Amino acid sequence: MSFSHLGLSDKVLAAVAATGYKTPTPIQDQAIPHVLARRDVLGIAQTGTGKTAAFTLPMLTLLEQGRGRARMPRTLILEPTRELAAQVEQSFAKYGANHKLNVALLIGGVSFGDQDLKLTRGVDVLIATPGRLLDHFERGRLLLSGVELLVIDEADRMLDMGFIPDIERIGKLVPFTRQTLFFTATMPPEIRHITEQFLHNPVRVEVARPATTVATTTQLLVRSGRESHEKRDTLRRLIRAADGLKNAIIFCNRKREVATLYRSLVRHGFSVQALHGDMDQPARMAALDEFRRGEVTLLVASDVAARGLNIVDVSHIYNFDVPPHPDDYVHRIGRTSRAGRSGTAITIVAGASDAKAVAAIEKLIGQTIPWMDKQPQPDDAIAPSRHAAPPPAQAARQRHRGRTDARHQSNRPTGPVRRIDDARPRRAPQPAPARADDGDAAHLPAFLLRPVPLKA
Ligand code: AMP
Repeated sequence: MSFSHLGLSDKVLAAVAATGYKTPTPIQDQAIPHVLARRDVLGIAQTGTGKTAAFTLPMLTLLEQGRGRARMPRTLILEPTRELAAQVEQSFAKYGANHKLNVALLIGGVSFGDQDLKLTRGVDVLIATPGRLLDHFERGRLLLSGVELLVIDEADRMLDMGFIPDIERIGKLVPFTRQTLFFTATMPPEIRHITEQFLHNPVRVEVARPATTVATTTQLLVRSGRESHEKRDTLRRLIRAADGLKNAIIFCNRKREVATLYRSLVRHGFSVQALHGDMDQPARMAALDEFRRGEVTLLVASDVAARGLNIVDVSHIYNFDVPPHPDDYVHRIGRTSRAGRSGTAITIVAGASDAKAVAAIEKLIGQTIPWMDKQPQPDDAIAPSRHAAPPPAQAARQRHRGRTDARHQSNRPTGPVRRIDDARPRRAPQPAPARADDGDAAHLPAFLLRPVPLKA
């Protein structure tokens, strides 16, 4: 089946052809004709299923008629995070290459003035996070009474992030007669309630059972000691022993852990960036771009920061912490095996409470996750990592970028990324020194690691 039977306009079809997509994904196939017929749609789909194009493509077709008026957007897309909002904006740029539409992004961390200027020019598509949208509305800079189509994306994440009251408020500010497209990966009771409030006689499109994991992802569990430094040690061994690791996202449960693990990996010479909610917007975008472009191999992230990120072709996911909510597991490992590719997701299990959380995950996904039968061998502190920090030329480029973006620099290690391999002897000392923490061996001067010849 091709895109041509869906009812999309010629301009949209040309843009789709230019991106190289041959066949619509199931959510596109099922949702697009209903969106074009002006029906409300309840889409139950995870990220990675092609749901962004499922609403972007028909919206572009519908928007070919009419124009946006100043401060009165014609369509509104709500996203839970700034990164997701930016990703949707990129989709409009890609699929809307043949259109002359004004797309505006209202997200936190970006100046009000620039956003306000865009609003005055008349907006066809407004993509926003709920808080920033309401800020603009309360300042009287925005009217929502012209919204013909409302998209609520990643609704279950909005729930997790406490945005439901904001969403309910926004629902009252847009016209009752608008068309609504509502996407969620899972259907907890609160979401069911809000769909009843928001949608009028919706078409329900479900492309995969809620909370299913992709069959092409190899899922594994690995045991570790409970202490944070023991987990970091386990993670390093896993990364060094990984087969076919192209790039990896490492998930932590807390922002603080993201920062600690990031610093530790930098100390150990890995090529790594971090992504968490405390970073300012330019730093988050820069970290993400570096990872997307393959300039760094590893991205340490928290759930909120990484939710729904569309980074095609992530080969490995590591759960440094077992997520407390089973749903998050599904979302995390959904970052790999996208667009038909295969991937590996490894979860570090440390102690009884982790085992309990894993049992809840297995119940949700309806399958048992096998244990890695071969534990990775003890950390070889001397062998250069295959996933080490970039070669000097690349590191220099990164340093240069770091200097030109002071705000970004605040989320990097102070000073350049060190190649610790270079500072160390090439041969493993016997016996290996005992370690108080994972950072210690990395900081021992080389002469202390040399074997001491014993006198007869
Ligand atoms: P999404 O679920 O919207 O995050 O999309 C996941 C990925 O699938 C994105 O990288 C899209 O570019 C890609 N994609 C979307 N639709 C198609 C399609 N029909 N064929 C191939 N790839 C697609």
